[in-house]
Amino acid sequence: MTDRMNRQWRLAARPQGTFKDSDFKWTEEPVRDLEDGELLVHNKYISLDPTNRGWAERDTYLPAVKLGDVMRGGTIGVVEESRNANFRVGEHVSGLLGWQEYAVTNGAGLSKLPDNPTIPLTAYMGLFGHIGLTAYYGLLDVCQPKAGETLVVSGAAGAVGSLVGQIGKIKGLRVVGIAGSDDKCRWLTQELGFDAAINYKTENVSEALKRACPTGIDVYFENVGGAILDAVLAQINIGARISVCGLISQYNATEPAPGPYNLAMLIVKRARMQGFLVTDYMDRAQEAMAELGGWLMQGKIKYRVDVVEGLEQTPRAINKLFDGSNQGKLVVKI
Ligand code: NAP
Repeated sequence: MTDRMNRQWRLAARPQGTFKDSDFKWTEEPVRDLEDGELLVHNKYISLDPTNRGWAERDTYLPAVKLGDVMRGGTIGVVEESRNANFRVGEHVSGLLGWQEYAVTNGAGLSKLPDNPTIPLTAYMGLFGHIGLTAYYGLLDVCQPKAGETLVVSGAAGAVGSLVGQIGKIKGLRVVGIAGSDDKCRWLTQELGFDAAINYKTENVSEALKRACPTGIDVYFENVGGAILDAVLAQINIGARISVCGLISQYNATEPAPGPYNLAMLIVKRARMQGFLVTDYMDRAQEAMAELGGWLMQGKIKYRVDVVEGLEQTPRAINKLFDGSNQGKLVVKI
């Protein structure tokens, strides 16, 4: 037994509605000794993602987290001990090692991070991680946008949405973002170069879309679902493409969500709406990272990271994703 103590959040109950403190249980236990082939990772950051809500409640594209298990979550950490020839002490790795300070693992599913001191570790949970990949392929591969077209993105000031809009601008599109506060809308238009932004909490989204998209909507990047999707569907053009990335407005729902009522517009406009999972694009990650990195160096793309300090804060911090108080990619610094 090593003298290290592990601190962990375990799933204690299936969430109903928003996560509650009682959905998680704090545990502490000694870190066990390594066996041959294993390594010990000291986690430094946890990625909090809307999909964590689904993992805690039911089987999705991954099986539900078992009650009593450490809560699943994306992590970045440093190898502190190794009896695995593929990993050296001091290397940084990302993986799904969960809401805990230490993890003993055989290395399956871990990725080594490049040793580049100019890139903050948190970037590998955002622009240079699953978030960047989601934005890049969800827009460019799923929607096949063409210069001059109009792109609307919901959840526009979030981690994925803010990158989608900026990639849209780089590709010569007119970009309209939908977000939940005036501050977020100002950030989109004044800092990120969006052509227009709509505050869905204070504006009539249908009316605002008519003003912001005078030639209709060619591409819609869907992060939220529900009433916003309906408003967009009513204004799509012939041949429109819609990538269904996420439906966050429904993740905490305790009753089936009504609508959208405008789905028949897909027929009228011969439009394509396609769901996708970032995991489908993992083997093409290098291609996206090279281009995203180039855009970052050229000052064409910006990203922000919202760091919450302390493993203890994790269960409360995740609700920032659902009340919209996160400013960019949400991570916990352990
Ligand atoms: P994020 O956008 O940084 O944070 C979530 C944001 O969603 C909040 O800041 C909030 O912004 C907005 N929101 C919350 N509840 C809402 C509601 N009821 N109606 C409208 N907006 C609401 O999170 P992210 O990690 O970038 O994820 C964005 C979306 O992408 C999620 O739907 C997620 O599930 C999806 N995703 C999918 C994949 C994939 O492989 N398909 C991969 C990664 C992420 P406001 O202040 O604007 O309300």
